[in-house]
Amino acid sequence: MDKDIDRWFPYPEYRPHQREMLEAAAEIVRTGGHSVFMVDAPTGSGKTSILSALLAAKNDERIVVVLRTVSQVSIYLDEIKKIRQNTNKRPRVAYLVGKAKTCQLRDEMDSVYLGCDLLKIMTRQLLESRMKEYMYLAGRSQDTVYDPSKDDSLLELIMDEREGERSCCPYYLLSKEAYLFDGEIKFRSSRKAQEVGRAIGDNIIYLDELDEHCGDICPYEAMALSAEGADVVILNYNHVFDDTYRDAMYNWLGIEPEKTILLIDEAHNLGDTVRAVNSDVLPQFSVKRAIKEVESSRMKARRAGLNQSLAVAEQILPRIMKFMEKMNEKGTSSEEWFDPHMFSDFVFGESLVREDERMVAELMNLGDVIARQKEKGSESSEIHLQKVGDFLFMLNFAKNDEAYVPLKYTEKRQVGGNTYTSTTLEIRNLDPSLQIESVMGQHHATVMISGTFSPPEAYELYYFANNGRATIMTLPNQFPPENRLVLAASRATTQSSLRDDRDNVTEIQQHLEAFITGVPGNVVVYFTSYNLLNQYMDVCTMVAKAAGKQIYLEPRDSKEVSSVLGRFFQAGLKSATKPGVLLAVAGGKMSEGIDYRGEALKGAMVVGLPLTAYTEIQKTVNEYYKGKYGKKQGMFIAYTLPAMNRALQALGRVHRAADEGGVLVLCDFRFSSKGGMGVREYLPEWMDRELKVCSGKESAQLITEWVKDYKRADVPLETKGFLNVETDNNEVQEPVLQIGKIEKTRLLNILGKIARSKERFYLGTINNQLKKEDRLDSTQLKEMFTDEDFSRLGLKACYVPSIGEVEVKRIRKNDK
Ligand code: SF4
Repeated sequence: MDKDIDRWFPYPEYRPHQREMLEAAAEIVRTGGHSVFMVDAPTGSGKTSILSALLAAKNDERIVVVLRTVSQVSIYLDEIKKIRQNTNKRPRVAYLVGKAKTCQLRDEMDSVYLGCDLLKIMTRQLLESRMKEYMYLAGRSQDTVYDPSKDDSLLELIMDEREGERSCCPYYLLSKEAYLFDGEIKFRSSRKAQEVGRAIGDNIIYLDELDEHCGDICPYEAMALSAEGADVVILNYNHVFDDTYRDAMYNWLGIEPEKTILLIDEAHNLGDTVRAVNSDVLPQFSVKRAIKEVESSRMKARRAGLNQSLAVAEQILPRIMKFMEKMNEKGTSSEEWFDPHMFSDFVFGESLVREDERMVAELMNLGDVIARQKEKGSESSEIHLQKVGDFLFMLNFAKNDEAYVPLKYTEKRQVGGNTYTSTTLEIRNLDPSLQIESVMGQHHATVMISGTFSPPEAYELYYFANNGRATIMTLPNQFPPENRLVLAASRATTQSSLRDDRDNVTEIQQHLEAFITGVPGNVVVYFTSYNLLNQYMDVCTMVAKAAGKQIYLEPRDSKEVSSVLGRFFQAGLKSATKPGVLLAVAGGKMSEGIDYRGEALKGAMVVGLPLTAYTEIQKTVNEYYKGKYGKKQGMFIAYTLPAMNRALQALGRVHRAADEGGVLVLCDFRFSSKGGMGVREYLPEWMDRELKVCSGKESAQLITEWVKDYKRADVPLETKGFLNVETDNNEVQEPVLQIGKIEKTRLLNILGKIARSKERFYLGTINNQLKKEDRLDSTQLKEMFTDEDFSRLGLKACYVPSIGEVEVKRIRKNDK
């Protein structure tokens, strides 16, 4: 038994198997030597608490938590906060979230990164000139520090600057001060920026509090400053798995890979992310702009003796443009492979003494001249010629390495009300294993966690190109099995040969009808494609109408997702009269990363095995992996594994907490059969065990009976007898204390603490695993508190939105 873990663990009790998982994670840290631990643990297993184990086992290493989405940041901040509140440990945490979410001027700019780069250049120039002026006026040349926050005349000058007329970024200006070193003017963080940065880690400032906390300091700079001395630094996938990014980022934040433990969240996404990072895209507009850059830097290049570079650029760029224009003439097209050798011959010329690499180097030299020229002219730091150079560099990989595929596609683009045709070239990476191994091989140890690492051995092969590299642990589903019904179709399928077969279509329709009609409340149906969704749209609409439900459609435009979801969630409330049926695509915008909490979802159905379309490109991917791992394993990794993940992620939307119940339907016989085309053996063990195989007609009966029994059983809201705190955005249930031993004052104290840190939260209670006398239900909870109790804590009176839940709202400043 590892006592250190107990000292860092912030909850009163471990969940089933949680202790085992934490001990294994701690062991990986102690072993070091670039070891890897992969954890396949369904929602509710308490995976986030692995952080406690890593903190308990580490020496002077730092922990870098690697996240896919910004929404996860608060989950880890909450965990650190709990460790600080409920143990005597005081770990420091820092996080870095992109400028698009944190820049104070983000609403003023189309591209925050380019706009920021430009404003920073202008700000440094301004600082430099003020520093010179200051030194002149002070008559000093040594030991001079210029602090812009004390320069009233400057502040007055920039105070009224508005969008489009800025001479600098005021936030960056106040984050810096200038000083003299060896006769040269340098910049460093201002004292105020350092204080603001330090306070982020000391006080755990959440992302939505960052603007207010930073005041007139740039939040991005402040976040970076908070990393100094932090035990835990939260970054995103690109920060860590993009080599160029990582080197700069680690350097900036003072992180040494060999002294760093990686904790990778939602690691089933890692393969796709790394492949994207190792791919390169060249849009036509970049080539067009590169041509302009070369034209405007001709004089400078000649003066710098780069005549050869100029000649290369003037030969290559028009040829790439010609290639793209020829593609445009053929009209729009989806992704197609192109021959990298023929493309090179066309672009570089066909002489026998060709040296493609040297020509790319010449382009890059010229790119440096353009970069310097842009910086001097306070222009955007984006160098399109370098983009072309990068692409041509990647083209060499595509010529020699099957893991890189050259692609071209032509599409219509809209700019300022005009539509035009534009071609994009891409070198796509198919195999993330080299990069993943390289990154993990540089770090002390890595822990990868996911709720859908199924089967984990296949992920291990995909990520590391061999089995045996990682220690693997698979945890069973922690939620009570009686809270769910898992069905799989015995006959229905979306295989293309049977897609229009009458009997098959009828079978799918029966499953849809049984599911939409039989499951009370909100449900979602995920199809394998928009085409399939359209094929069954009418029948879904008809059935929904008869069942008194409203259809909601996944929008094509991502901007509309939140408004559709908002209405769908409303429809799921007990007080609403018409529940919703959401029709979406597995692997689309509404199947992963969205928390359908509580009443929001009572059932999910996946129609078909969501395989990627069998295009020429997919065939290339399949061939690559077949060549690498043999026919069966290769096809599984290239083709079936991503489909399994899409299905499991889609179904995983239903049960986000132990107290939730619902129906899961896998509507394709491939899910219910093993061997051949079947994939049942790859489902998580609990799902395989609970699967009920049925026809469309039988499913109606099974759902009706289950719903009846489920209601009658008065299903417990909790598994382990914890008082359960959930926030609106928090996916993880957070047990705060064991009920039964609770006293009113203590509970009020805890509520007060939670209320100070959360805008809104729910308390869920009760479980039949507790002795009856220890149970506390919502009515009792409600009875324990008077309205005065709540208002004393700055809380709004509680009410009961659904059985056993008590909602408590923090009163905001402007609430009446
Ligand atoms: S320096 Fe900071 S506040 Fe200024 S533009 Fe860049 S990110 Fe935004």
